[in-house]
Amino acid sequence: MTQTTDPGFNADLWHLLFGVGHPALLAKQGAFRTEGVPPRCKLCLAPFGELPEGGWSDEHPGPSNRNPRYCSLCDVFIRANPGGAKVTMSVVFADVRDSTRLSEELPLEEYVRRMNDFYRRVTAVFVDADGFMLDVVGDEVFALFPAGFSGVSPDDAGKEGAELERARVALAAKKAFDAAERLAAVCRRGAEGDFAFGVAAHTGDMYVGTVGGAEDGIADIRVWGAEVNKAARLCSAARPGEALVSEATLDVAGVPAREYPREVLTLKGFSQPVVARRVGVVAPAAAPV
Ligand SMILES: [Zn+2]
Repeated sequence: MTQTTDPGFNADLWHLLFGVGHPALLAKQGAFRTEGVPPRCKLCLAPFGELPEGGWSDEHPGPSNRNPRYCSLCDVFIRANPGGAKVTMSVVFADVRDSTRLSEELPLEEYVRRMNDFYRRVTAVFVDADGFMLDVVGDEVFALFPAGFSGVSPDDAGKEGAELERARVALAAKKAFDAAERLAAVCRRGAEGDFAFGVAAHTGDMYVGTVGGAEDGIADIRVWGAEVNKAARLCSAARPGEALVSEATLDVAGVPAREYPREVLTLKGFSQPVVARRVGVVAPAAAPV
């Protein structure tokens, strides 16, 4: 039996979780963030790296048997609240250049060793920059910077409603920008033999919500939409050691765009060109347009 998900189902809940911040989940994340040993639950950050004394419990939830990316409590939550919402979100991609050629040229074990090394270098930056829901797809790693997680800060005090949401979306976009800039620097500092990779950051309206499989199978949270695809395409267009950051991200983050060379890109599958800035330029810069 397949669980079908109405895209508008539980929209208020999912918007609160990702677009604004859910107080109960934020409290859990705050407690778990610095506790224990990774890996962590993708949602509440409960640590799974070490079995706590006394075993797993509601205070120390262990990985779900059905879906080890989440703790047992978050797995139940995702299954009990299928649905999703449209939220303004930032996303950062990093992908290895020439990975097909390299997979052919390098011995398989060496290719896998270098790919794992790439995952490690990139996810370290994402974790440090408050990226969320990190995921690996082939030769690509990406992280979301949802306002409801990455945008929360002590400066929120006194803000509410649309003002609170705006402030959190802006801070999350700034963290996405910082992550992209740092990742480009990580690539530039790469040692001999390290994979070179491209980086992109983009901000836009994306749909975030649950995807269900067969009954009792994997239940997961995914992000969909043209703006996600745009970010991935932007990443493919980035040169190694540089980040292509869309002007949408710079605008929302409040980062002055003019100090970065401007690129107008035609991306495969998109009818309108995308305006981005090259951050972390290495070679003599092309004349800004
Ligand atoms: Zn959890």
